[in-house]
Amino acid sequence: MAEHAVVIAGAGPTGLMLAGELALGGVDVGVVEQRASQDLPGSRAGGLHSRTIEVLDQRGIADRFLSEGQVAQVAGFAGVSLDISDFPTRHPYGLGLWQNHIERILAGWVGELAVTIYRRRQVTGFAQGDSGVDVELSDGQSLRAEYLVGCDGGRSLVRKAAGIEFPGWDPTTSSLLAEVEMAEEPELGMRRNAFGIHSLGKVEYEIRDGEVVYTDGGTVRVMVTEPDVGPTSEPTLRQLSEGLIAVYGTDYGIHSPTWITRFTDMTRQAAAYRQGRILLAGDAAHVHSPVGGQGLNTGVQDAVNLGWKLAQVVQRTAPESLLDTYHAERHPVAARVLRNTMAQVALMRADDRIEALRDTVSDLLSMDEPRRRFAAMMSGLDIQYDLGEGHPLLGRRMPDLDLVTANGPLRVFALLHDARPVLLNLGEPGGLDITPWADRAQLIDAKYVGDWELPALGQVAAPAAVLIRPDGYVAWVGDGTDTGLRDALTTWFGSP
Ligand SMILES: Cc1cc2nc3c(=O)[nH]c(=O)nc-3n(C[C@H](O)[C@H](O)[C@H](O)COP(=O)(O)OP(=O)(O)OC[C@H]3O[C@@H](n4cnc5c(N)ncnc54)[C@H](O)[C@@H]3O)c2cc1C
Repeated sequence: MAEHAVVIAGAGPTGLMLAGELALGGVDVGVVEQRASQDLPGSRAGGLHSRTIEVLDQRGIADRFLSEGQVAQVAGFAGVSLDISDFPTRHPYGLGLWQNHIERILAGWVGELAVTIYRRRQVTGFAQGDSGVDVELSDGQSLRAEYLVGCDGGRSLVRKAAGIEFPGWDPTTSSLLAEVEMAEEPELGMRRNAFGIHSLGKVEYEIRDGEVVYTDGGTVRVMVTEPDVGPTSEPTLRQLSEGLIAVYGTDYGIHSPTWITRFTDMTRQAAAYRQGRILLAGDAAHVHSPVGGQGLNTGVQDAVNLGWKLAQVVQRTAPESLLDTYHAERHPVAARVLRNTMAQVALMRADDRIEALRDTVSDLLSMDEPRRRFAAMMSGLDIQYDLGEGHPLLGRRMPDLDLVTANGPLRVFALLHDARPVLLNLGEPGGLDITPWADRAQLIDAKYVGDWELPALGQVAAPAAVLIRPDGYVAWVGDGTDTGLRDALTTWFGSP
């Protein structure tokens, strides 16, 4: 039986990101994926928000995505655009890039690391014991692991087999989504009727001066909202044709579909992200309406929160209890995504009174403070893990500052490429000592002369030092002394 320290079920965006994070942490990881290759039949999710681009930048791979996508102001709430171009980040924008490309680029990165991928087979079950998990595969083989992570999507077998509850709300609306050829040139853009919102666009597009410009001809991406919530069975071309005729009066001669699917606003979240040696991440842990484009982003960020913690537990530098901080930190983040998607779906309903409410919300969001708060939420830049009282940076993302060191200029994110913690001493050089943790954390003496500004919060007092976790969140803020530093190092990176 093949053995890995960690087995991941599913090589979607979450599973791939987690595999990369674990490999950087020196963990032997195996990924089981039912698909024969990374190809997706359809384009799926539309892109990345600012915080996800930052997270990829922390690993030195953001440029791979930026060079293939369309940088644009993508944040929005219930269809109201939220501009983040004045936000204090190196990436004050989102990226239009279809999920099939995101997965291809992520898989390319994972391919450069020591990760074994078992394709064309499913995880069909597992048995969890005191010392490990036996993972059963559809080809009759088994894999032995210390931990199994379910990154196997919304219908997660791992979640179901573990008996983890998935409470939430049934769908209230459904839409057909497809990529097809059309004999006639369709009317591109959005349309609203009594059923809700519909849209016709092209898979190939560019963004010029903030406007989407479609290429002539080519594959059309259709989204039609159904009058009633559709069945769970796979939709057909005929149903899509009927859906189009009901809204546009014609199906524009659709033919040759490459992808037809149905999505809903079903909203559910796993009651526990960990059960012993089993963990859940991404859609396996949370599903919701795609409005606002947050699902893939949340999954990738789940992976980045979990990866370094699991790596340390597997390598016995940190206690198993560190894994419980994964649920404690990430469950509230997705719970908030669930709530904001439910609010957005409600606000987008076709009803005169809801339309009046939407106009009111739109007015509110045109004011600066609400715009900044909602934009920070929708772009993922305002996440704060509850690490107790203290400096506003505590539990928040570390900004990618331009530092000055004895060896020359240095970006903060460059220090995170290997997913290792950093103690950044901005005070007296040599003023902090972390010798007992020298094998785990880097100590950098540096100077920073600019302002400290955080998204939504604005200016904050300059700290004398910061302890940055491998996921880029601040675990401790120094006031010129080392009070609390040993405790923070022990909590996050284990006893010396
Ligand atoms: C129409 C639409 C638009 C969207 N737009 C956006 C957007 O703009 N931005 C955004 O952030 N999100 C968006 N999303 C959501 C996004 O697509 C998902 O959140 C994302 O794919 C979740 O990634 P994941 O890796 O957790 O799960 P998945 O992508 O579902 O990946 C799960 C993987 O596990 C594999 N698998 C499943 N079961 C098994 C098994 N038993 N054994 C082995 N392998 C298995 C699957 O083949 C798959 O590769 C959108 C979704 C839809 C439907």
